[in-house]
Amino acid sequence: MPDKITVAGVPVDTRHWIGGRRVASGDTFTDVSPIDGSVLGEISRGTPAEAAAAVAAAKAAFPAWAATSRAERARILHAVADGVDKRLEELAVVETTDNGALLRSHRRGVMPRVAHNFRFFADWLLTLEHEDFETRGHRNHVSWDPAGPSVLITPWNAPLMLATWKVAPALAAGNTVVLKPAEWSPLTASLLADIAAAAGLPAGVLNVVQGYGSEIGDALTSHPDVRRISFTGSVPTARRIAASAATQLTPLSLELGGKSPLLVFADADLDLAVDLAVEQYDNAGQVCLAATRLLVQESIAEEFTRRFVEKASRLTQGDPRDEATDIGPTIHPRQLEKIDGFVRRATAAGARAVIGGHAEDGRYYAPTLLTDVAQDSEIVQEEVFGPVLTLQTLSLIRADRVTDRLVAGTVWVNCFFVRDLQAPFGGSRLSGVGREGGTWSFDFYCDLKNTVTAPEGWQDHG
Ligand code: ADP
Repeated sequence: MPDKITVAGVPVDTRHWIGGRRVASGDTFTDVSPIDGSVLGEISRGTPAEAAAAVAAAKAAFPAWAATSRAERARILHAVADGVDKRLEELAVVETTDNGALLRSHRRGVMPRVAHNFRFFADWLLTLEHEDFETRGHRNHVSWDPAGPSVLITPWNAPLMLATWKVAPALAAGNTVVLKPAEWSPLTASLLADIAAAAGLPAGVLNVVQGYGSEIGDALTSHPDVRRISFTGSVPTARRIAASAATQLTPLSLELGGKSPLLVFADADLDLAVDLAVEQYDNAGQVCLAATRLLVQESIAEEFTRRFVEKASRLTQGDPRDEATDIGPTIHPRQLEKIDGFVRRATAAGARAVIGGHAEDGRYYAPTLLTDVAQDSEIVQEEVFGPVLTLQTLSLIRADRVTDRLVAGTVWVNCFFVRDLQAPFGGSRLSGVGREGGTWSFDFYCDLKNTVTAPEGWQDHG
């Protein structure tokens, strides 16, 4: 197999990146574009041996990286951000070709955000202040010690964005990293390795292992030298990871699926509400935080639905590389089948598709709105991860009274997707464990240490 493939004109290395070297596995897996099913290339299919080699490289590089001054770590992370900015267009086209999300969002939203992830945590690092206080003349000194080699496992719906959201704080805090990107979208992680190396990140500080989580996941997550595991993905996989991490009691951060509601009250700005509702089809609905349950106050439900249908039917579905496209393909025919199964079972149970309700072809699923759905039905309870919304009506309750009682990681009022890296992000109950962002990311990747120093000659005083 070739070590490099060319994707949308960009050379991408198909091998792992371990200890500052490209390493191939004997076997490969095929990477396919969701846009048209074309084969992009054969990617190294990691085995437990490469997983162990990557952890060993991360372990070997850890002491020196942890001892590197904060200013120097911040400088290198800014250089990584510069590298991302410089290769922004390449990253955007490769990501779109690999995962099918819109090129226009990769260009203008996602990839600038990837660079920002590095800048934000580089700057954050420099603002951390050690805390000192006194106990009976003894000095307490609280410091953030980097925890050690960290395994970061990421999904395919926003590959580089979600990977760097973990990589940046982990590296800033002084940890070394083994990144395992999703097998359906492996390419931009490989480009990140090139960018990081060019920016001067020392060998072994960032390692990338390609392959199937089912084949190499355990080797990474049960490894005794791994000090942190951060995962974004599905609940069943999170359960397996947590069970595997239990061997060493390795601390976990889990960012999982969701089934969020969008609440629309009678006095809402209806056009804004409709715009926000239609926005939930973003990335073909393959978004963990998508508000897929539209809960609309009874008195305005009819008018809301009319305006929603009018707006949603103007959406253009097609090639995500076309700037005019609003909805691209689903990641994989298997995902499309899963989505279709949910919708079929819902309609068999009495739901009505106001729009959509079917696949356009083997890759594109029509934006769908289902009404007449029961609260305890599968379609209302389970995450679909596709462009499928349900609509239910609400009798009168007030937003300000409701907000306090919502069990949710994020509540957006009259807006959607407004995210600041300083804010905690994550889900409650089965939607996750822990939070990412600002201080929450930093604390996760650190071991907080309190050093208590006795005053000189304290024995004399008893
Ligand atoms: P999906 O949303 O496709 O169901 P998953 O949650 O299974 O995705 O996948 C998210 C990430 O988890 C991917 O990188 C995948 O390879 C990885 N993964 C899958 N199974 C395991 C496992 N047993 N251990 C560790 N990682 C896994």
